Order: sequence, then C-alpha cells, then structure tokens
Amino acid sequence: MEFQDSDFTPVDACPWCGARSAEYMYTSRHASRVARCVACGVWYSARQLNAAGLRKFWSDYLNEDHRADGDALRKRNAMYAIDYAYAVQFLPEKAAVLDVGCADGLFLDFFHKAGHSCCGVEFGHAAALEAAKKYRVWEGVFPDLQIDAFFDMLLFRGVLQYFQEPQKYLRKAVELLKPGGYIYITAQPNMDSFCHTLYKEKYNQALSATDFVGYTKKPLASFFSGHGLRLAGEAYFYEETPYADVPRDIARVSAALEEKARSGVVAGSSPPFWGNMMTLMFQKNV
Ligand SMILES: [Zn+2]
Repeated sequence: MEFQDSDFTPVDACPWCGARSAEYMYTSRHASRVARCVACGVWYSARQLNAAGLRKFWSDYLNEDHRADGDALRKRNAMYAIDYAYAVQFLPEKAAVLDVGCADGLFLDFFHKAGHSCCGVEFGHAAALEAAKKYRVWEGVFPDLQIDAFFDMLLFRGVLQYFQEPQKYLRKAVELLKPGGYIYITAQPNMDSFCHTLYKEKYNQALSATDFVGYTKKPLASFFSGHGLRLAGEAYFYEETPYADVPRDIARVSAALEEKARSGVVAGSSPPFWGNMMTLMFQKNV
C-alpha cells in the first residue's frame, strides 16, 4: 500500500488520556516517532493516518492484508479457534455477541456455529458487505452508530490499535453490554512484553502510522474499573499458537540479547514469544 505525506496527520496529545507528556522512544514504519505517555503509560505513534489515509488503508485491507495466502489463512483460523475457546468459557448458551471490527465475519463464524447470535460492526465497506451476507452488520465508526441491541459479549480482536479516540469506543461498548456481560480484548500487542522492550521498533507488533496505539494491561484495567467492570481473566497465548517454534524463537531472542550486549543494538525482528500478545476479559458488574 502506497501512502503520501498528505495521508498523515501529526499527533501531539496522548490518544488515550489527552496528556501532552510524551517520552519519544524510537522511530518506526512510515517515519513515525513512537511515544510513551508519561501520564498513563499508553504508547502511540506521533504520526497517524488522517481521514484520507484511513480510507485508503481500509479499502485495501480485505484484499491485501486480510485475505492472505493459504498458510497465513490456516494459521489465522487456528488463532481464531484459540481465541474463541478462551471466550466461550465465559458465555451463557445462545448468547448475543457483537464483534467490533468484524472484517468479513470469520471470527464470528465460530460463535455462530456454537449457537450464539452474532452481529458485527465494520468500518471497511468491502468487508462490511461480506460480513452482512451472514450477520447483522452496522457499517461505520463504532461510537457514532445507533445500535438498538444489548449484548452478552463484545469482541475487540486485534483492533484497539486502530482507534484514534479509543475511550469513546470502549465507553460505547460498556453502554451496549448487558449486566454481567463481557468485553473481550484479544490478539492485542502487549507493549509491556519482553520482546517490545528488547526489540523496540523491530518488535513484530511495533506501532506505526497505521497501528497507532499500543496498550498494556494497566490503563485498560483502570479504565474498565472506573466504568463498573472487573478483570475476569487474562492470557498471553504463545506456545499453543501456530506461530510458535519454541527452540527457534528462544535462539533468536538469545542471539539478540548477545548482540545488544556487544553493540547496543538489536538486528533482525522479534520472533513470536511469551507475553507478546495480550488477551483480557472484563466483566460488567451485575
Ligand atoms: Zn496518556
């Protein structure tokens, strides 16, 4: 995907808490300076896609990125199965589920097959049309949508990094949740992970102008606690994922540590590893 300078906008306040107390940590893809907010600990790119850039990004998303080749698709499906298996233990039978950023609905398919009632929200037009062949889908920017239903679980799978005003999304999610219902955040890069700390811009989930915001558990748990939800579960999938090759990954991290000790810099990019990807389950108080 080709971006021009006119597709970007500078960001000078934390997209999570609005503070202007950034520590600049490194420069990443799209010449993005990556900051860590001193006030809340959330990471963000100081260069983000503007409205024109976002349209370009999401119109290409289904073709270029999401519909990858056979092997990537097989691995993605295996990850969906892992993420689904974790979620389903919290769900009552015939639950109402809303996937925010549902793409073409493939993750929802797992919930549908188990008898749950599935709906989606999607910003990308082509993906929304695809998902709407199977499920009720609201197309557009989630906080602006009129959604006349309540849910037992809202899914945020690998999407929080794309939201420019994330608290608006999460407040909307809390509003749409039944008492005792869950907000499921998964496939979320963990900025507190060992690999992010070691590899910085070479972390395999590094921030950029397209993936703007990076989370750790603390600000999310603190936000939800202030909105009447408690942390009901957390997991950091790695060994059970199709991306793990434990001996190879350990060898790569070990070589990176040696190189860092020798030269101060790490070459190559981070492998999949323990702690890289975060899964959090929050439950609304009854
Ligand atoms: Zn902040």
